[in-house]
Amino acid sequence: MSTKAYAAPSAKSPLAPHSITRRDPLPADVQIDILYCGVCHSDLHQVKDEWHDAAPTVYPCVPGHEIVGRVTKVGGGVTKIKVGDLAAVGCMVDSCRTCSSCKKGLENYCLSFPTLTYNAPDKHSGGVTYGGYSDRIVVDEGFVLRVNEKADLAATAPLLCAGITTYSPLRHWGVKAGQKVGVVGLGGLGHMGVKFAHAFGAHTVLFTTSPNKIADGKRLGADEVVVSKNADEMKKHAGSFDFILDCVSAEHDLNAYLQLLKLDGTLCLVGAPEKPLPIAAFNMLLPRKQFAGSGIGGIAETQEMLDFCAAKGITSDVEVIPIQKINEAYDRLVKGDVKYRFVIDMASLK
Ligand code: NAP
Ligand code: ZN
Ligand code: ZN
Repeated sequence: MSTKAYAAPSAKSPLAPHSITRRDPLPADVQIDILYCGVCHSDLHQVKDEWHDAAPTVYPCVPGHEIVGRVTKVGGGVTKIKVGDLAAVGCMVDSCRTCSSCKKGLENYCLSFPTLTYNAPDKHSGGVTYGGYSDRIVVDEGFVLRVNEKADLAATAPLLCAGITTYSPLRHWGVKAGQKVGVVGLGGLGHMGVKFAHAFGAHTVLFTTSPNKIADGKRLGADEVVVSKNADEMKKHAGSFDFILDCVSAEHDLNAYLQLLKLDGTLCLVGAPEKPLPIAAFNMLLPRKQFAGSGIGGIAETQEMLDFCAAKGITSDVEVIPIQKINEAYDRLVKGDVKYRFVIDMASLK
């Protein structure tokens, strides 16, 4: 079926209206009318082909993987969701379902690589998958999440990527009360990282390059905010952190954060900058420490995170925009000028 969308025709051109074809629902499929879609910095990296070596972009590219909407049709075999329900879709729409990772509920680490929501080979159409900057989407029910009817839908959309990408590593490394935990970069991911680290009871420290975000950092849950450009302030925290979550989208100095870890502390990267980031050996050796990474989260953990957020009243701080403002929003994202996630009101596309 023909579906309205916004697409990037090439790495150098702005996003513009475009028409895509979605499949009619198969027996296991759920068709969702998209109400809101968050704008992740990954959308921008992908549209500009900044990850060319790892994940080259196929044009036209329809980004968007923070999707919340209403179910309008279901296939005959669908059991967990019905027409009229709210539903959400995150960064994946399928995986092999048979490998050791998939069997453990870690579809994000599928050994055959998960089918991402956009710019991935589409098993059904033969082309590539198209994301949430569109009117509707058709997804296998195994990759559809449930959303609380009482939720603020615009503020829930970013949980589908920014939420799970920060929740998962904080849970995996067991962040809890009594620990000192850092979050680097107050953007879409970082502001959720601050909220979760605070909710898990850790002494939470935000590192930001933007002095004008200090007050917001504290309001969002940070016990302390450090302006990372200030070397003296950074020095005061040397050797004191159990865990630091790095949510930065651009080139920056990892060594400055490795120096802040205590014995057996972990620096975990979730940001995905375009260029490699060098590490000095002695920042890893003395004292013993770990440098790690984490990618989104599995479907079961994403549902757990959505339920946790609903129970605790946690949502994203959003600026809702019509889709016609998407190129302006990208320009602002590059400058770090977002508080703290743009979310597209898809009614603007109808
Ligand atoms: P975002 O909203 O643009 O936030 C990034 C933040 O990083 C900025 O707000 C800024 O915070 C800081 N920053 C930007 N440029 C910087 C620089 N040159 N030096 C130091 N700090 C800088 O981006 P996002 O949507 O949160 O995404 C962050 C990164 O995570 C992106 O690379 C994205 O692709 C990646 N990502 C990874 C996963 C995963 O599965 N691992 C999932 C989603 C996204 P301050 O102003 O506070 O310094
Ligand atoms: Zn994302
Ligand atoms: Zn698999």
